[in-house]
Amino acid sequence: MDYKESCPSVSIPSSDEHREKKKRFTVYKVLVSVGRSEWFVFRRYAEFDKLYNTLRKQFPAMALKIPAKRIFGDNFDPDFIKQRRAGLNEFIQNLVRHPELYNHPDVRAFLQMDSPKHQSDPSEDEDERSTQKLHSTSQNINLGPSGNPHAKPTDFDFLKVIGKGSFGKVLLAKRKLDGKFYAVKVLQKKVVLNRKEQKHIMAERNVLLKNVKHPFLVGLHYSFQTTEKLYFVLDFVNGGELFFHLQRERSFPEQRARFYAAEIASALGYLHSIKIVYRDLKPENILLDSVGHVVLTDFGLCKEGIAISDTTTTFCGTPEYLAPEVIRKQPYDNTVDWWCLGAVLYEMLYGLPPFYCRDVAEMYDNILHKPLSLRPGVSLTAWSILEELLEKDRQNRLGAKEDFLD
Ligand code: ADP
Ligand code: MG
Repeated sequence: MDYKESCPSVSIPSSDEHREKKKRFTVYKVLVSVGRSEWFVFRRYAEFDKLYNTLRKQFPAMALKIPAKRIFGDNFDPDFIKQRRAGLNEFIQNLVRHPELYNHPDVRAFLQMDSPKHQSDPSEDEDERSTQKLHSTSQNINLGPSGNPHAKPTDFDFLKVIGKGSFGKVLLAKRKLDGKFYAVKVLQKKVVLNRKEQKHIMAERNVLLKNVKHPFLVGLHYSFQTTEKLYFVLDFVNGGELFFHLQRERSFPEQRARFYAAEIASALGYLHSIKIVYRDLKPENILLDSVGHVVLTDFGLCKEGIAISDTTTTFCGTPEYLAPEVIRKQPYDNTVDWWCLGAVLYEMLYGLPPFYCRDVAEMYDNILHKPLSLRPGVSLTAWSILEELLEKDRQNRLGAKEDFLD
């Protein structure tokens, strides 16, 4: 199951050590990346050391390592810090990579987000800031009726990064005016325009124009822009990604899987009724709200132009439920979403996507050619709907005739 961690990586930026003048110790700023979520934690060496000692005893076979304690001399030599940083970086990477370690309560506590006062405004990135001036696009984009000309980034306190996707990031933000929390999706115009995907902003706008409203689709409150960025103010959905829960439980009982599948189907049927094809339903776009209902994010926003090669290389093979026609780059229609529904349902029931293979090329080949093999553990009804949704020929797929009604 660890493929879903999608290449966790951790880096400790060199310029971010904080020195406390009085006490003189070094605090290491560690960027923790799990899947597409990222956050920083600020920890002293002693704290790393403590965690290391706990884990070493409990997991002697893991051969964990952290940089050694310094016995002579002071700990503020830049070369020393640099080396230590690299070692701590490696240590954290190992933790994130191993589910047993990552789920250890002490590790969870250690990697937990710090309070926002430690953090700079995460809507600004160091690397972005430096290039912005050069590529200033300052192009005004029509955001349709959701566009709010008076809104601006300083209306919000940006608290942390809650998601990172292909085109930008999603931040948890508190609106100063009313103290309410929102998820604000920030897209860099530069990136979107550079990728020759202006038409996808149009796609996005069309979605916005349609006033999409459904209990199982994330609600958009309004949107605004600066010269560099587009901001979408969304409901903050706080139940976590569905697949976070699935990973913990390996698979869901059929009843529970059926419940989620029904809600997803209902959202897809609604989108189709207003002529929107979702197309890339995938694990990280399915969230749960605070009471356990499904909320789909990321519909109609900047996706059509993302080539398959792009998706796989950029995200280390983020599992997507690619339908055969998508892999073949053939035209697709509503039925592509019914394939994806089949794939989600399959994964909920069995814990792995259909046709799953570590080797991506082989997986594509399986999707295109391999018959779905019957596996025990689900009812006949579940099996028959899986077979009908995961039909390779889209014209024979369940949903091809009357869409949601089928
Ligand atoms: P992208 O188009 O870049 O994939 P998404 O809209 O899918 O961006 O957002 C990226 C991630 O951010 C999601 O996978 C999810 O984990 C998180 N996220 C997105 N929208 C919300 C939201 N409204 N509430 C909470 N988390 C969200
Ligand atoms: Mg997404």
